[in-house]
Amino acid sequence: MLKKIGRALQWSKTPRLWETCVPQDSYEVVILGGGSHGLACAYYLVKEFGVRSVAVLERSEFGVMENPWPAPLLGLNDQVPWMSSVYHASQKVYKGMKEELACDVGFLQRDLLSLPTGPWESGVLRGMGEAQRLRGGKTRFLTNEELQRQYPVLRGEDSLEGALRQPEGALLRPASVAWGYAGLAGRAGVDLCPRVKVEKLEIAAGRVLGVRTDRGRIRTGTVLNAAADWGLDISVDGMEKALLPVEYGVWISARMPPMMDAVIQCGEVYAGQGAEGMWYIGMTGAEQVDVGRLAEWAGSLIPDLRPVTFLHHWRGKGYRATQGTPVMGPWEIDGLFVDLGWGGRGFETAPACGRFLASWIASGQRPDDLLDLAADDLAPMENKG
Ligand SMILES: Cc1cc2nc3c(=O)[nH]c(=O)nc-3n(C[C@H](O)[C@H](O)[C@H](O)COP(=O)(O)OP(=O)(O)OC[C@H]3O[C@@H](n4cnc5c(N)ncnc54)[C@H](O)[C@@H]3O)c2cc1C
Repeated sequence: MLKKIGRALQWSKTPRLWETCVPQDSYEVVILGGGSHGLACAYYLVKEFGVRSVAVLERSEFGVMENPWPAPLLGLNDQVPWMSSVYHASQKVYKGMKEELACDVGFLQRDLLSLPTGPWESGVLRGMGEAQRLRGGKTRFLTNEELQRQYPVLRGEDSLEGALRQPEGALLRPASVAWGYAGLAGRAGVDLCPRVKVEKLEIAAGRVLGVRTDRGRIRTGTVLNAAADWGLDISVDGMEKALLPVEYGVWISARMPPMMDAVIQCGEVYAGQGAEGMWYIGMTGAEQVDVGRLAEWAGSLIPDLRPVTFLHHWRGKGYRATQGTPVMGPWEIDGLFVDLGWGGRGFETAPACGRFLASWIASGQRPDDLLDLAADDLAPMENKG
């Protein structure tokens, strides 16, 4: 009996992952959407930029929209150089999260092999490899022979035309990113409010006055709309022209013996094997996910995958920015900020974007350089401020 009471007392002392609360009547900043972007921004606002009263309103639960299995980070290959900077800045944070913040996002460094989709892209990737080599980087374009020698599992595809190998690919668990930032934000003093659906922005004379939710009205002078593909429903006029609807899907296999320690990407399809042996094959940012095409691609590239059983899948819709770069910053009305259009790049960019927007919201000035915001100085909560 005494043992039982002792165990119960110990349990009650165990710190919770995060505390939740019902929203108060007013806040300095209200963030719509408790995904990785909204939560990261909330954390940096309080922890690094001294904003005292911040709430994150989430219509569902924190972290439930995200995939609990590892997924590859593919941002290295973005055609927009700015996006690669965001990717690198975020990767730096992810690398340090486990040790420094006791927050394990399952970060696993992997080579990224980019296969050209055709002769034109082959030339581009060769050029990128050569430029990197001349600068002393480890990125290289591998010929077909080198590719098949180093990765014999790729023996199925006769029409391979080499690949660009970049050493900075990675896998991580999307759900852990949202959970990690929820824990950090909660402990920093952010009000995390689940099951609060935002219905409307309250605007008068061209400025934000508050938000109307299914739990009542909340007054605020600053709103960040980070509600992803639902963000358009919350009256942000003109935004629909900047964003295109797209689909994503990833299939996750049963455990397999180790076959390959690199992630392969070709246009909008990708495949990779995680540390636990599961394979991930996916399609990102397509008009429509075509499972047949995906399976055909993966099976012809890696014949050993043909008999594999797939146990789980994660599929969803999102918005991709028509101009390539997502919409991030103030939007037309005083006090309204948006962070939308991340499509298939959302969780790999959350730390850098969260910090960038937090700086912008807190200071009212656009931060000069996104790279300066790479958080190599994230320290454990108890050692900071
Ligand atoms: C199958 C698949 C594969 C993917 N693969 C990758 C990948 O490899 N790399 C990568 O970086 N990204 C990938 N993504 C995309 C990534 O998941 C998103 O870009 C990312 O989740 C965006 O984060 P976010 O915080 O902006 O939005 P979300 O995580 O979607 O969070 C938005 C939140 O807002 C809440 N919300 C919506 N409306 C309201 C409202 N009215 N009131 C209150 N709350 C509201 C939602 O419930 C949600 O929790 C993939 C997505 C899918 C579906």
